[in-house]
Amino acid sequence: MTTAQLSVGELLRDWRERRRRSQLEVAIAADVSARHLSFIETGRSGPSRTMIERLCEELEVPLRERNRLYLAAGFAPVYQERPLDDLGAARSAVEAVLTAHEPYPACAVDVRWDMVATNRPMELFLAPLPDALRQPRLNMLRATLHPDGLAEQVRNYTQWRAHVVGRIRRQLYRTAADGLVELLEDVEGYPAPPGSDVEAPAVTARDGALPVLPLLLRTSLGDLSFLYVLSVIGAPRDVTVDEIAVEAMFPADDATREALLAHQPRMSAALMRAGCVCADNLETMSVKAQQYAAEVLRREQITPHLVRLVLGGPGLAGFESTGIPDEWVGLVVPGQFQSRYYTVRSWQGGELTLDVVVHDVGLVTEWATRTDPVGQTVTITEPKGSYAAPDGAQWLLLVGDLTAMPAMARIAETTTLPTRIWAETPDDLPGYLPETAEVTWSTPPSETSSDLAAAVEKIEWPEGDGYFWMAGESSQMRAIRKHLMRERKLDSHAYDVMGYWRGGGQKRQPRSVDPGPVWREGKAQGLTDEQIWQRYDEQQEQQ
Ligand SMILES: Cc1cc2nc3c(=O)[nH]c(=O)nc-3n(C[C@H](O)[C@H](O)[C@H](O)COP(=O)(O)OP(=O)(O)OC[C@H]3O[C@@H](n4cnc5c(N)ncnc54)[C@H](O)[C@@H]3O)c2cc1C
Repeated sequence: MTTAQLSVGELLRDWRERRRRSQLEVAIAADVSARHLSFIETGRSGPSRTMIERLCEELEVPLRERNRLYLAAGFAPVYQERPLDDLGAARSAVEAVLTAHEPYPACAVDVRWDMVATNRPMELFLAPLPDALRQPRLNMLRATLHPDGLAEQVRNYTQWRAHVVGRIRRQLYRTAADGLVELLEDVEGYPAPPGSDVEAPAVTARDGALPVLPLLLRTSLGDLSFLYVLSVIGAPRDVTVDEIAVEAMFPADDATREALLAHQPRMSAALMRAGCVCADNLETMSVKAQQYAAEVLRREQITPHLVRLVLGGPGLAGFESTGIPDEWVGLVVPGQFQSRYYTVRSWQGGELTLDVVVHDVGLVTEWATRTDPVGQTVTITEPKGSYAAPDGAQWLLLVGDLTAMPAMARIAETTTLPTRIWAETPDDLPGYLPETAEVTWSTPPSETSSDLAAAVEKIEWPEGDGYFWMAGESSQMRAIRKHLMRERKLDSHAYDVMGYWRGGGQKRQPRSVDPGPVWREGKAQGLTDEQIWQRYDEQQEQQ
């Protein structure tokens, strides 16, 4: 049964249990007899309008949900819901808070974090987001965590996502608002951007430097660090006003404060000239990676599962390699807005070479195999790399499947360290890896799985300090991270393990346990939110 089908008594009981209040406690506070409250909850008595309002006030039921209770009791909804533009003084108050906060970013969001209004600095941060993330409305949480949003710029992605998931759960608990379960599902399902595990700075409660978890953003102004303050409008009498919160971002360190203050004159002048936010001045505070339009010059089938694409043209003129041997770029193929990551196999004489694995289905796979890509224009993002062998490393161990071959080849070609490679590929690749490396070849168990974790557990490790690099199917990588930490007890600088793709044939990033069904089942069984999340966490633990 959904909450829309519950009786007014059941809804009231649900809110009382959410607030963890006993019948007696609520009855005393609301000045009604415990027996009468019990009768209302069990349906033996029907509550009056005044009684519903009194109990809702006591239980801090959000206005939208109060309307639901009135409807369930056979009354008309009491609270209006008007667009922000029609809210007079409340709208002016929101605008005043947003404007007064400049040059720091701030926005007003509704109960689902859908954007209602922003100030200009915030708009500048959000301007590079693709249209797809703005439809039907821009959602602040999706925007920061979606792979096509700001995800790659969030340096503490893993921590920040965990924090966001906690916020959504609490919001669900507090408001029971529609759309929050779907938001939770989406946010939990977004893939972490490549390298986010290794790049996440160690911001822990034990650091003691900051009493809050900051949002660490990589931007064209440098690395910025923000904390946020949440404001709500007091004594709301309208559903929209009740659900609006202003999220004001404050600099969490001096460098961020100085960067934003220094940026302010440029930003204001540009905005004043334009009178509005327009494409010309948006770039000034872009957090989006630089992009390049590249033409596909050649396509070569290296093996049945590997296609080489050589890109070039004037659009790549400004492209600069990082020099990091496992550097990758985002690739957006024509007609798509989602990117996929590919290693820069080489960048020479204005030509960028990518070696692309083709498998059963896939956005890039289909484009690279079922159309003739030569002559087409693709979009490439700025390169980034992760490989960082520590000073003093005496050897290199590289492990990967076919997707990791371009990176392993480039690392092995450029290193002077003795190198051993474990390569899991479906086809023979003679001459692909340099002869200087000692290679152990194997074949994957199937097209959509890998056995590399088992291979690594059998490796005989060389003496002394070295560097271990591995990439491939994500579940294998998770197993290996555990192995390296628990059994080999390696320092985090001594290895780099990255999930390059997800096996199992899912269309989108799978979650180990899907929160949606757990939530719905729990609700149908009458469990409290807390019991549902406990069940959810237990199921995840068992994975
Ligand atoms: C930093 C980094 C560097 C990478 N470098 C390379 C590279 O140089 N060359 C390369 O080919 N890939 C590379 N990858 C992996 C590549 O980005 C993914 O395999 C990507 O999912 C492929 O996109 P797609 O559009 O073909 O398939 P998608 O649309 O992403 O996925 C469709 C389906 O195919 C499955 N799938 C995805 N990849 C594979 C695969 N390799 N084998 C079998 N099934 C798969 C998925 O599980 C899904 O079910 C790299 C990834 C990262 C993070």
